Amino acid sequence: MTLVVQKYGGTSVADPQRIREVAARIKRHVQAGERVAVVLSAMAGTTNQLVAWVHELDPATYDAAEYDQVVASGEQVTIGLLAIALQCLGVPARSFLGWQAGVRTDAAHGKARIKAIEVDAVRRCLEEGRVAVVAGFQGLSPDGRVTTLGRGGSDTSAVALAAALHADRCDIFTDVDGVYTTDPRIVAKARKLDRITYEEMLEMASLGAKVLQTRSVALAMAHKVRVQVLSSFEDKPGTLVTDEDEIVEDQIVSGIAYSRDEARITVAQVKDRPGIAAGIFGPLAEAAINVDMIVQSVSRDGLYANLTFTVSRADLPRAVAVLERHRDAIGYERIVADANVVKVSVVGVGMRSHAGIAHKMFATLAAKGINIQAISTSEIKVSVLIAEEYAELALRSLHSAYGLDGA
Ligand code: ASP
Ligand code: MG
Repeated sequence: MTLVVQKYGGTSVADPQRIREVAARIKRHVQAGERVAVVLSAMAGTTNQLVAWVHELDPATYDAAEYDQVVASGEQVTIGLLAIALQCLGVPARSFLGWQAGVRTDAAHGKARIKAIEVDAVRRCLEEGRVAVVAGFQGLSPDGRVTTLGRGGSDTSAVALAAALHADRCDIFTDVDGVYTTDPRIVAKARKLDRITYEEMLEMASLGAKVLQTRSVALAMAHKVRVQVLSSFEDKPGTLVTDEDEIVEDQIVSGIAYSRDEARITVAQVKDRPGIAAGIFGPLAEAAINVDMIVQSVSRDGLYANLTFTVSRADLPRAVAVLERHRDAIGYERIVADANVVKVSVVGVGMRSHAGIAHKMFATLAAKGINIQAISTSEIKVSVLIAEEYAELALRSLHSAYGLDGA
């Protein structure tokens, strides 16, 4: 018997009518002879509201365990309602909070990691011929407190449950109909991909494509869970995230991601000597500020260096403050900060075996007069930092340069 895990996001369960439609879809799968375990998000907007209430009472120093107790509550509502909607359609169903479904996490409240899922209760429910409806985004810490997995965490709950149940598939139902070559709201010629590899999806997700939580993709890759991203509002196949050997289409570049969550900092005129990079990045690391792209250039006389790097936009003020505090130790002349930048990345496993991918990117941007402020690469991606005003032009030109344009 086929066992599938289906996950529905917040827009798919936004009100009772939509929950009824989700129930009807699940009923069709049950009638087709599948066993179905469902993972749900809270209703669209609910989690934001819950977070806002916590911040209203205490903007900064709140108890993270109590924050989790509050923000985990949105999913309790949707799972109960879906179980009722299924029962109304004559489909036996039972709902489970994270702890009732055996989701064990570490104690990192607000960003907990799943350690194990003790699936006995859920499995028994499925074996009794019932649909199991599980609250996403939450689990139980070693000391018995409710934890949450970080925003967007119900994708990770679904993949983890699929892995633990050895499900045949994990279908992520959302408000888009799959993974696109780039953001279709910006590039009209963006195409839906039938398939994408785990590695490419991992890059796309971490580089700014918002369809799946990055951690859920890493988990799917580690456990070889076949994930499908598809629309809960239409009845058509979505995008399958899978192993490279299942990909038939021979595309060198699969997609182009972009992220506006970037800010650039240049530490100018530092005396060039061993240890300057350590002197700058040490204090940033201590402040838990992640640095992404890094460029170091040396002045013509070889005496001074400029260090340019990126941090996430939200960290920019803190990063500047940290550097100013360490000004004497680092010994720079000035700091230049710029939040009006975007990171554009081309992604594709075909890069491993093809030369010239980066050159094509640089040449395409040069032809449009777009200046590159920083570059970083991995085996399967090339990222550049450019001024924000050129984001759309860059995406459109790169999309056609790599032959991704659809009809
Ligand atoms: N409800 C949670 C959130 O909004 C989890 C999720 O939707 O994945 O972040
Ligand atoms: Mg989501």
